[in-house]
Amino acid sequence: MSSPWKNQHHPQARAAILAAIVLAIAALFAAAARADRPYAPSRDYHLQNVRVSLRFDLDQRKVIGEVTHTLSTLRDGLTHLDFDCAEITVSSARVNGKDTTFELRDNKLRVNLAQPAKSGEKFDVNLRYEGKPTSGLYFILPDKDDPARPKEIWTQGEAEDTHHYIPIYDYPNDRTTSEMILTVPGDWLTVSNGKLLSVQDAAGGMKTWTWRQSLPVSTYLISFVAGEYKEKQDIWRNIPITYYVPRGMEDTIDSTFSHTKQMLDFFSERFGVEYPWEKYAQTAVDDFVAAGMENVSATTLSARDMVRAELAAEKAEAADSLLSHELTHQWFGDLVTCKDWTNTWLNEGFATFGANLWEEHEYGVDASSYRYWRDQNNWMPSKELFPIPIVTRDINDSVEYVGNVYDKAGWVLHMLRSQLGDDAFFRAVKHYLEANRLQNVVTADLVKAIEESTGTNVDPFFDQWIYGAGAPRFVVKSDYDAAAKKISLNVKQTQKVEGHVGLFRVPVNVAITTAGGEKVFPIEVSKSDETFSFAVDGRPLMVLFDKGDKILRSLDFQKSPEEWIRQLQTAKDVPDRADAAVALGNIKDNDAVTAALGEAARRDRFWGVRNEALRALGRVNSPNARKQVLASLSNDQPWVRQVAVEQMGHFQNDEETIKRLQAIYKDDKTYSVRGTALQSLAQDKGSGTAALLEKALSTSSPDDVLRRASLRAMGMLGDNEAVPSLLEWSSPGKPSSLRGIAIGALGRVDLKNHDITARLISYLNESSFDIRFASIFALGRRGDPTAIEPLEALLKTGNLSISVPHSVEGLIEQLKGQSAAHKDPPPIPAGDQKISDTSGAGNNQIVVDRLDRLERQMTEMNDRLRKIEASLSGGKSD
Ligand SMILES: [Zn+2]
Repeated sequence: MSSPWKNQHHPQARAAILAAIVLAIAALFAAAARADRPYAPSRDYHLQNVRVSLRFDLDQRKVIGEVTHTLSTLRDGLTHLDFDCAEITVSSARVNGKDTTFELRDNKLRVNLAQPAKSGEKFDVNLRYEGKPTSGLYFILPDKDDPARPKEIWTQGEAEDTHHYIPIYDYPNDRTTSEMILTVPGDWLTVSNGKLLSVQDAAGGMKTWTWRQSLPVSTYLISFVAGEYKEKQDIWRNIPITYYVPRGMEDTIDSTFSHTKQMLDFFSERFGVEYPWEKYAQTAVDDFVAAGMENVSATTLSARDMVRAELAAEKAEAADSLLSHELTHQWFGDLVTCKDWTNTWLNEGFATFGANLWEEHEYGVDASSYRYWRDQNNWMPSKELFPIPIVTRDINDSVEYVGNVYDKAGWVLHMLRSQLGDDAFFRAVKHYLEANRLQNVVTADLVKAIEESTGTNVDPFFDQWIYGAGAPRFVVKSDYDAAAKKISLNVKQTQKVEGHVGLFRVPVNVAITTAGGEKVFPIEVSKSDETFSFAVDGRPLMVLFDKGDKILRSLDFQKSPEEWIRQLQTAKDVPDRADAAVALGNIKDNDAVTAALGEAARRDRFWGVRNEALRALGRVNSPNARKQVLASLSNDQPWVRQVAVEQMGHFQNDEETIKRLQAIYKDDKTYSVRGTALQSLAQDKGSGTAALLEKALSTSSPDDVLRRASLRAMGMLGDNEAVPSLLEWSSPGKPSSLRGIAIGALGRVDLKNHDITARLISYLNESSFDIRFASIFALGRRGDPTAIEPLEALLKTGNLSISVPHSVEGLIEQLKGQSAAHKDPPPIPAGDQKISDTSGAGNNQIVVDRLDRLERQMTEMNDRLRKIEASLSGGKSD
């Protein structure tokens, strides 16, 4: 893309601002004293019950609490009891009703015992305390910019943040029952774990809510939500089912939660174990630090992920993926819980797998196999994730939280299912749940359960997929010997064998279609280079290696355009057709290819293949490809039409395209497609677009779909006339999701205007992570050296930290390498920039390109973090 930095400022100033940005981003993402320990600590005691009473001082954002721990000791001679405790001031400690001494040091509260205890002795430890937590418990309150917003208090315990609002044993390797007693304003609702025992009037118009969780759970799964919420009640098999949203979001309840009871039926049957808790509540909260969290019987969800009634028809699967993920956790994670974070995949892999099971059940196997195909294509190129095993103790250096324990682990369970067969696999799942019910587990417990219930020894499978890293990168060539009627298939595993990555031994189905029909040959691949041979009854029309994509892998299989076209048109499984669409997108100037892609874009029986065909046409980017895309605008599903309209942004300077886009913006019945049309118009730089965007900005739409699109498009268009509108929408008081986009767009317009820079600098001090993040990048794009000092000042404030997975650190390292670019440009992929150009301007072009790419990656990362639940504690929220 074109660079706003060219010939703007002195190269050294640009290098300095880039360095400052790198450091600021590093600070934004630096893990704040990571609490998650890879080994479970040894225990001095077993918690039996935790009884917590909480009150709140909203003005001071303070929690005032009292907790009574009932516990029994696990060793002789204990002179004190330690609890995890952070950001909390303890005013009194009593053991068995008697005052005792205590001390607080290094996030531990040590409560002294009157005399050394024996193993098995029982104690009641009562603590009174207060605190102003910055993690674990969050106050969302009205302020001058948003005086009408609902008041909310919510918690997020995972990974180890419960001890920021309750002094408690805060690691998964113990389980306790709990009581949560909340005194809140009389018009509030509260939600916590287990059963609601009572709601009683309290002094000053307050009410006291008492919840009891009667089956033992790990303490990171304790939670509550309290505030100005609206509720809808339902019932399933005599269990209360409740949905809560912040006041004002009532219209999202039915469009978001309508499948809940079917999901409960489905999972109870599929897992072979009935839903285990006394109720199921799902609560949407504002500014949540994750997309969802599987608190026991009381899932917390981000209000951002709720589905507006008016937009329901535009979403392919509503919020089902998030809801089914969290619901699966009620079995995997909550009923059976990982003993330590090293084994987190037993929670997250199953939850990812469970969501895909639901998708298969509700939306069909095409939809779920398309999801696996996309996950595979996202995961395989990841340099950070590839060399790291799913189970590793090396938590501090690893990025496994994001990519491996979710998507890769889900894939591994998917492979295990296909290799064991449904019968054996689900028998093993049931046995694993029953044998470990209300227990904490490690990976070996799953291996044992599988072997006990099916007789199959899965050690080799786990060694390569769970304790080993990577996946096969296949390069396959086929050759037909017409005289001998034989096909020989050369298979190479090209992944670099080093560290934890080895050669894989995998079962693979090779499907060969001739005029006589399809024949499937099961083979086992295990070597770095081997050749298989198959007898056939005639010339092969189509050869599929790993038919249906049953193995997590990449595949480079050289085929002719005719073979790919046949595969796109006739392969039975979605992944094989999608592979063909991708391959055909790399073939330019071939009318038959373009026509076949157009045909698939209009008529493939599954929408995902239609989307892949459209994307391929966008890459082909020829006049013919354009015709094909325009001809597929009549697709019924908005999520396909949207991809078509997106591709139209690739066809620049074409009057017809621009006219069509304007008409789509005006007439399409879905907001998402109309919004995408605005962005494509901006990319195409059509005349009259600036005025159209201004008009769209004043148009109301659900979730501000059109405003968001037009702000983003204003940045793409880069027209200085948009500045007043962008400044207005970037201002405090506007909804923060719109502000973030407006700020991003300000990074691309009127670059010599120092007033814009000054405005962006003023946003660096705001509490919202999103606003700071957007402002840093926008300043980076503007390249105005007056931003350096404020960025450095931001670093010194030290309160930037937000715990996020370490994958980001790789990106930062990459950029750090960049900041020295004016001396020694690192190699970059061909096509990005001429490497030979080492003049100041050229190097800064490289830097800008890198920054662009980093911003895209970081934005995707940010979205991704939202979409997965917090496996790490969130940072300070706004
Ligand atoms: Zn999860």
